Amino acid sequence: MPGRKFKYFPMVISAPSGGGKTVVRSGLLKLNRKFAFSVTCTTRTRRPGEVDGKDYYFVTEAQFLKLRKEGKLLEWALVHGNYYGTPVRSVMTVLEKGRIPVMTIDVKGARSVKRLFPEAVTVFLLPPDLKTLVQRLRGRGEKPENVAVRLETARSEIKVAATFDYLVINDRLPETVREVAAIAELETRKIGRNLDKVREFGSQLAKKKKF
Ligand code: ADP
Ligand code: 5GP
Repeated sequence: MPGRKFKYFPMVISAPSGGGKTVVRSGLLKLNRKFAFSVTCTTRTRRPGEVDGKDYYFVTEAQFLKLRKEGKLLEWALVHGNYYGTPVRSVMTVLEKGRIPVMTIDVKGARSVKRLFPEAVTVFLLPPDLKTLVQRLRGRGEKPENVAVRLETARSEIKVAATFDYLVINDRLPETVREVAAIAELETRKIGRNLDKVREFGSQLAKKKKF
């Protein structure tokens, strides 16, 4: 868990519903093998085409509450009436494999991850404008009442956007994916994540008596 040394760190991607989390995650996974999906669990019913264990672990409410009680969830949230949570194991498995767990979770969940896992990098996505968000939600087939609920939720979500590390405007998708990948690349260069290499160099210098 936190404090252990891994090559990478979790990347948390949040956005109001329809902001592009799912498609950006797919883009990252296609772009580079270092990105991997960390599967989360939910009590919501499965949508056509979704696969248990791939898109989500679909669990009953009783199973979810048991996981939560046993401390097996890194974070959890109630979103639009359903429980969602990130199993600690899903994230750790990816980190142990030396890859970057890409977590597409709601705004509250993102903040909890950052509290427990300060090394995590959080990215907030926004569409270029509200009109585009509405078009994308409709284009995804959301019913008008669902669009309204999601926009209502977005009001409170954008209020906490300032707690994220980065903002990316999701205008053209390939560009968005490249920008998020570039953030990950730059984050690996942070000196605080690489002090072992600095120390190693320092100890080589210390051992050398004469140059
Ligand atoms: P979220 O997972 O954040 O709810 P999605 O990834 O499902 O959002 O995106 C919402 C809809 O908008 C989807 O139909 C998706 O294909 C579309 N979409 C997302 N980003 C873009 C983009 N940059 N250009 C065009 N369509 C997009
Ligand atoms: P959907 O039902 O459309 O797949 O997801 C609804 C919302 O729940 C999205 O904002 C999604 O990112 C979020 N979500 C999915 N999994 C998790 C999770 O494990 N934890 C949290 N906090 N949110 C999640």
